[in-house]
Amino acid sequence: MPSVRELIRLAAKDEACGTDLAQDPWALNQDSSYGPGASIADPFPVDAPHQSALPERYTQASPEELDAMIAAAKETLGERVKILGHFYQRDEVVTYADFVGDSFNLAKAAKAHPEADAFVFCGVHFMAETADILSGADQAVILPNLAAGCSMADMATLAQVERAWADITAAIEAPVPVTYMNSAANIKAFCGRNGGIVCTSSNATTVLEWAFEQGQRVLFLPDQHLGRNTAHTMGIPDEEIVLWNPRKGLTPEELERARVIVWDGFCSVHKRFTVAQIERARAEFPGVRVIVHPECPAPVVQAADAAGSTELIRREVAASQPGDVLAIGTEINLVNRLAAQYPDRTIFCLDPVVCPCSTMYRIHPAYLAWTLESLVAGEIPNRITVDDAVAADARVALERMLAARPKAV
Ligand code: SF4
Repeated sequence: MPSVRELIRLAAKDEACGTDLAQDPWALNQDSSYGPGASIADPFPVDAPHQSALPERYTQASPEELDAMIAAAKETLGERVKILGHFYQRDEVVTYADFVGDSFNLAKAAKAHPEADAFVFCGVHFMAETADILSGADQAVILPNLAAGCSMADMATLAQVERAWADITAAIEAPVPVTYMNSAANIKAFCGRNGGIVCTSSNATTVLEWAFEQGQRVLFLPDQHLGRNTAHTMGIPDEEIVLWNPRKGLTPEELERARVIVWDGFCSVHKRFTVAQIERARAEFPGVRVIVHPECPAPVVQAADAAGSTELIRREVAASQPGDVLAIGTEINLVNRLAAQYPDRTIFCLDPVVCPCSTMYRIHPAYLAWTLESLVAGEIPNRITVDDAVAADARVALERMLAARPKAV
């Protein structure tokens, strides 16, 4: 199975979502956009961090030379430095990860290794922040490319959320704020300060049940689709789910009838999946099992056979049988890796266009080599730190999540 980079290189014009994808990410560092990939058209924050230029030693190196640099630096650093690789990272990076997982499991891996001096987080900015909050104060968390943000997390800024909170609480009793793990640390802290909680895509229902024990309504940040899909799972009808657009707000009457106020944010990777793609897959492969991530729009989740976190998707694939056909609605790097891991099954991405997450894609082996060699030289590049007060409030929201238990049935 060719890597996603290879698929992009080989793709015809309309089979990849951007010809720029074939470029190396350092060519894009000064761009004022998320860069090629699924988030390219999303509004880009003016204050988003830019990555400084990489020395030529890395940008000019061949893939084999980068491999040799990474392997040698990793060997020298030994147990002192752990590499954390998100499921959506490219194979060329994941191959060096000490732990591979979703954002929360990687943050937990950081917490579980107090002996390490540093964690190199091959993922995006909010994930490195969560790892910094959960790891020890003297442990460094490093993001190899500072331009690896997340357009969904950036759709809810603290200033916007505080303005919305003032408007909402002026009209109705304060809802319980719930934020998806995919949000900035200061949004998690906002939830911690205001009686709220964090959720992941695996525990969103349990967390919403917890929230409804604390209050009548929930403000769900920043992913409208996970918020709506979870509300549906709990039997909450569409009439009681309202969308908060930070530019427009809602009337007191609309807020009054809501049980769940979902923020107008979305993941541009998962927004690409459509019911038409599912229909096409079913027409082409009768008997196909369609599994999608709950960041997909509600009609897609309803048309699928199963919806759940990346962990659930992986478990579903592992439980399938040789000869089975599985169409998957999540990031292409994970789907591609599953297809390579289970060659006796037909596993494909529902979206026929190769379109990775723009920012995950920014973590190229050249950045990993630069990061590791800097650590060998005694420098700590690109350290991600969360202010102590913000971390303390965010930890409250994270601990509430860890303590939340599913309702007994
Ligand atoms: S896949 Fe979506 S939610 Fe995840 S980092 Fe990329 S843009 Fe953000």
